[in-house]
Amino acid sequence: MRLHPIHWIVLEEANIPVRSNEPEQVIDSLCGAISALRSQAPAAPYGTIGIGTGTIIGGELFKGAYGYSGEMGHMTIEANGRKCSCGNRGCWELYASEKAIAEAGKNVAYHSLQEIMQAAEQDEPIALHTLYQIGEYLGVGIANIINTFNPELVIIGNKLTQAERWIRKPLLRTVRQRTLQSHQHGLQIHFSSLQQHSTVLGAANEVIQSFVERTRVSV
Ligand SMILES: [Zn+2]
Repeated sequence: MRLHPIHWIVLEEANIPVRSNEPEQVIDSLCGAISALRSQAPAAPYGTIGIGTGTIIGGELFKGAYGYSGEMGHMTIEANGRKCSCGNRGCWELYASEKAIAEAGKNVAYHSLQEIMQAAEQDEPIALHTLYQIGEYLGVGIANIINTFNPELVIIGNKLTQAERWIRKPLLRTVRQRTLQSHQHGLQIHFSSLQQHSTVLGAANEVIQSFVERTRVSV
């Protein structure tokens, strides 16, 4: 997948080192992290179609050696799981994002987050079960992140926040069960109030910030 010209403008203005022909998900995860940075958050998983994550360490966005950091959606959580488009098997985002809904939707009448939430409103069992499982799998991945980084705050952003009422409980319970006791001390897990606008707002904020810092006006 090739980047749209607007992506390059955002990356250049934000001084994010990303090379050509990289997936757009790289942008999503980094921009989500920037959004989190402006909210003083140390880590933020962003679920849209897949999952991207951004990590803020010491108040700065962690970009990795070559700007690729943030692809935790492709960490393995099922060793012999489903085949992912990245070439791996059992990637986190296959089980904890809208990709899980697409999989469940093969046998039922819903194919999007909006449709599954409408079905869940009617207590449709498959919809409820699918959202419950997404919450659980989100919890598994977030527990891995917590055990690795020992963050003070995890923010869940973008579209999946709309399903908070169904995914919150299984997510928090799974995190409690799978996270080291020492890492649970002082830990906060929030659903972003920016919801599906978090990524684009984070990107816009970073570009404006960069422009203001570089531009000096004399009067
Ligand atoms: Zn993958």
